[in-house]
Amino acid sequence: MPPQAITAKLTRRIPLTDDVYELQFQLLKPEEISFIAGQFVTIKVEDGNPKLFFRSYSIMSPPSQKKIISTCIKLVPAGRATPWLTTVSEGTDISMMGPLGKFVFHESPNKRSIFVATGTGITPLRCMIEDQLEKGNTTDMHLIWGFRFEKDIFYTEELDNLHTQYPNFTYTITVSRPEEEWKGSRGRVTDWLKANIATPAQTQVYICGVGDMVTDTATICEEIGMAKEDIHFEKYA
Ligand SMILES: Cc1cc2nc3c(=O)[nH]c(=O)nc-3n(C[C@H](O)[C@H](O)[C@H](O)COP(=O)(O)OP(=O)(O)OC[C@H]3O[C@@H](n4cnc5c(N)ncnc54)[C@H](O)[C@@H]3O)c2cc1C
Repeated sequence: MPPQAITAKLTRRIPLTDDVYELQFQLLKPEEISFIAGQFVTIKVEDGNPKLFFRSYSIMSPPSQKKIISTCIKLVPAGRATPWLTTVSEGTDISMMGPLGKFVFHESPNKRSIFVATGTGITPLRCMIEDQLEKGNTTDMHLIWGFRFEKDIFYTEELDNLHTQYPNFTYTITVSRPEEEWKGSRGRVTDWLKANIATPAQTQVYICGVGDMVTDTATICEEIGMAKEDIHFEKYA
């Protein structure tokens, strides 16, 4: 679907951690949207500043939910869009443009898919994973999701439910600065990839997050033997 102007009501803002929120929107105009999992919308920031300003947010809800969209955002206190998005009243009509973007899933029946995220980089990946599972994709899909501290972790219940319903989906959370008692994976997502990709030629990877993590991960995937065309990424900033 070509990008179009969208008006959507912010129906709910759910705090997930100290600084991460899920935003849920109900579409008003148009009332439904078609998009490809992994795409994003660009939101018009109407914070009272007369200078026009837009910021992009990946769609997290799967394309099967045509009347609503959700996203997941991290508050950047010194930023412009997120202080507004984390305080604007529920019920406000928000202007956006979409769907946009080419970070989408490539069906490869003979390949395992690895999804690599840090923080809110989960947003388009969760959409892709749920979409593929809903469509009956039974290939092996693994999410490796990195956080700095345990207090930053969210959506474990949702991911556990997804795994229970679709056992071909599994996930690992890795924490780079855990407490001593942390029993899960330790280190960065790149450490996990170096230790766990046994068959790089049969693996495709989808990477999303902020800055250097994305480029570092893509480089490591290449170094461990994955084909360039199997390495897909979206960089937030
Ligand atoms: C295609 C696309 C999709 C995106 N989807 C999402 C999404 O689903 N969720 C989301 O939270 N962000 C997403 N972003 C980032 C988003 O567009 C904004 O850049 C971000 O919300 C910060 O906006 P801001 O105006 O508040 O701060 P800015 O003034 O734009 O940012 C200040 C600084 O914050 C850093 N920063 C930006 N994003 C993050 C982040 N998520 N975590 C930590 N530091 C950050 C940057 O290094 C930047 O220099 C996406 C970006 C792109 C290009």
